[in-house]
Amino acid sequence: MLYFSKIDIYLMFMLCLGIESTAHTFGVGIVSDKGEILANSKDVYKPPHGSGIVPHDAKVHHENCKERVLEDALKSAGVDLSDIDLIAFSQGPGLPPCLWVGTEFAKKISNENNIPLIGVNHPVAHIEIAKLTTGAKDPVVIYVSGGNTQILAFAGGRYRVFGETEDISIGNALDTFARKVGLPYPGGPKIEKLAKSGKYVELPYVVKGMDLSFSGIVTAAEKLYRDGVKLENICFSLQETCFSMLVEVTERAVAHTGKKEVVLTGGVAANKRLIEMLEIMCKERGCSFSSVPMEYSGDNGVMISWTGILAYKSGQRTKNFDPISRWRTDEVEISWMK
Ligand code: AMP
Ligand code: MG
Repeated sequence: MLYFSKIDIYLMFMLCLGIESTAHTFGVGIVSDKGEILANSKDVYKPPHGSGIVPHDAKVHHENCKERVLEDALKSAGVDLSDIDLIAFSQGPGLPPCLWVGTEFAKKISNENNIPLIGVNHPVAHIEIAKLTTGAKDPVVIYVSGGNTQILAFAGGRYRVFGETEDISIGNALDTFARKVGLPYPGGPKIEKLAKSGKYVELPYVVKGMDLSFSGIVTAAEKLYRDGVKLENICFSLQETCFSMLVEVTERAVAHTGKKEVVLTGGVAANKRLIEMLEIMCKERGCSFSSVPMEYSGDNGVMISWTGILAYKSGQRTKNFDPISRWRTDEVEISWMK
């Protein structure tokens, strides 16, 4: 095995600094073009109790922590800005006030230090960090986060959406239910904990073709709570129902594409029960399953850096640096895959 010291890495390889700021997380990651992760610094905005993300407050949070998070990333990688060859930033989709903080900050660092700048699509970055960290080459991807729920696979130059939510994301569904029953944000981990001692109670199961819908399930779960059903039981059923729906659509995507790998990514990928259910399905289907490591499951700057490197090295150049608050995963040309 070849061994490179940190100094070798800086001299021989390209280093990219990536900035994430689409929603609650302000993150800075530093990655080499060999996929070596040198820093993953972040600060996460916490909404006030009983509330979802307040975009203006998240923006102020990002403004206040950006310099500190950058310094922390440079320090933990042991580099300074003169060692950085490329700056990548999450250009969208996301909350416009939050996106602007990252965009302006990235532009400033790029201009002041004369470093090329590239815009990155946030969901594509969740997919690419999952591939880098799991070693999957061409998987069916389940992307489940606070803002998105999509089942994707590479076909004809893009990550095509095989199934997605018709209304809210799964993360939003879990967070909304949690908020309604007085659990703090983020709701996903708390629901997972409570679900461990729960039993099944009926909730609607909503799969329409390859698409999913979660908002009616949340309404039904809230009604059960008002009717006095034990919170643990609702949490258990909420997970079992929503996750079964995801597994069903993923299984059909695997059958349709004939792909041999399945990868889970996004903040909800931290959920052990979802991982377990997908593992069972994949074993039965004879395909491999892997999940992005916890530290890269939620929003982070590392995934932006790595995707920036892939895009830049395959010849992509960003012309307009303004945020793109609506930017579908399947609009992005994946020029680094054949
Ligand atoms: P992201 O938007 O990718 O940063 O992910 C944030 C979302 O992940 C929030 O909706 C969280 O509730 C959710 N989440 C985090 N940990 C878990 C977990 N253990 N189970 C379910 N959802 C989770
Ligand atoms: Mg995300």
